[in-house]
Amino acid sequence: MSSLMPAAIIGASQRVKNLAPSPTVAVSERARQMKSEGVDVIDLGGGDPDFKTPDHICTALNQALAAGETHYVATAGTAALRESIARKLLRDNRLSINPASEVLVTPGAKAALFQAMLAFVEPGVDVMVLEPAWVSYRPMIEIAGGRPVAVALSPKNNYQITRHLLEFSLTPQTRILLVNSPNNPTGRVLTVEEAQQVAAFAVEPQLLVFSDEIYEKILYDRRHHICLAALPGMASRTLTFNGFSKSYAMTGWRLGYVAGPADLIKQITKIHTHSTTCVTSFAQAGGVAALEGPQDFVGEMVAHWDRRRQAICGGLSKIKGIRCPLPEGAFYAMADIEDTGFDSTTFAEKLLQEARVAVTPGIAFGRASAHQIRLSFATRDEDLQKAVERIGHCL
Ligand code: PMP
Ligand code: GLU
Repeated sequence: MSSLMPAAIIGASQRVKNLAPSPTVAVSERARQMKSEGVDVIDLGGGDPDFKTPDHICTALNQALAAGETHYVATAGTAALRESIARKLLRDNRLSINPASEVLVTPGAKAALFQAMLAFVEPGVDVMVLEPAWVSYRPMIEIAGGRPVAVALSPKNNYQITRHLLEFSLTPQTRILLVNSPNNPTGRVLTVEEAQQVAAFAVEPQLLVFSDEIYEKILYDRRHHICLAALPGMASRTLTFNGFSKSYAMTGWRLGYVAGPADLIKQITKIHTHSTTCVTSFAQAGGVAALEGPQDFVGEMVAHWDRRRQAICGGLSKIKGIRCPLPEGAFYAMADIEDTGFDSTTFAEKLLQEARVAVTPGIAFGRASAHQIRLSFATRDEDLQKAVERIGHCL
């Protein structure tokens, strides 16, 4: 008997039939594949810091391994890591949480978001997503059976969020508002006024707020991060998502967390315990070292990205048909290509085929960015310079 089942018998679930793989991951995988075939392609697709995880963090992992910390640990995360996260939230975000019941350690912030969607979204639930938005929010909501309701923000007014705009998009089924600041892909950082408007808006329809703060430490021009849960009245209705991938160059470690009210964390933990059991035991020792150790590395990394941000945006803006404003945070440049006459998918394909530069088409982040492309500048200086030259030649 053949070991392969015919598709008619095994058929994919309704849930995944129309689901496409992550476009940002797909761009990087395609670039990786082309490189393995000997093509000289520059990958500005996925966002992965181009720095090595600091030595003291790797040493902590090695010590945990050597000490035999290679077994299951508490589902919610080791006590040491949860305590470090609680200290971090208080120190950086003025958020006071109980490490025993108000935080869950997950394999990346992505898993935290996914598990939270499964815990709180179901058919009949609408989730408000401010677009342009990270590529995985919409599929996560749909997998959970809910409906994403897009709120289109405009590059023309620097993606400004107003209470009026939020109220205009509110449906009777809206239960959750998803906010991401600093934002992927736009780099936009919430202002105090905007954060206050978001908070005021969320109260009346009794919304749960999912605040994705993964790029918290990647800010330029002396901007400050606002943790939504720390605003008056918000702690009881906000889940804060964060992780180690971006701030500490630890994407491959798969380490993140969600913090919030104990009764909400308890529900997410049910999904976590059945799907993950616990996060890799020795990786959590690295997480403690990251939060408790010296923080200068973060500032040094951000200084490099700041320089690259100026270089890539400046370089691209000199090319006819492209405008590329400086992002306020994160490490992505959103270039406006409307004047070239191409849509973002055609343009990204053209760059890959003709210029050998991999970028993410703006449409992947929603219709609000259909005339933009996203370029990750968490990439070596030489590559960035070469990429800008190649794009210039190509056009
Ligand atoms: N949120 C946003 C906005 C992101 O860009 C990413 C990066 N993939 C994540 C969450 C998840 O990060 P990780 O799972 O690596 O912690
Ligand atoms: N967050 C990164 C990006 O947007 C990594 C890839 C992903 O998980 O989407 O490119």
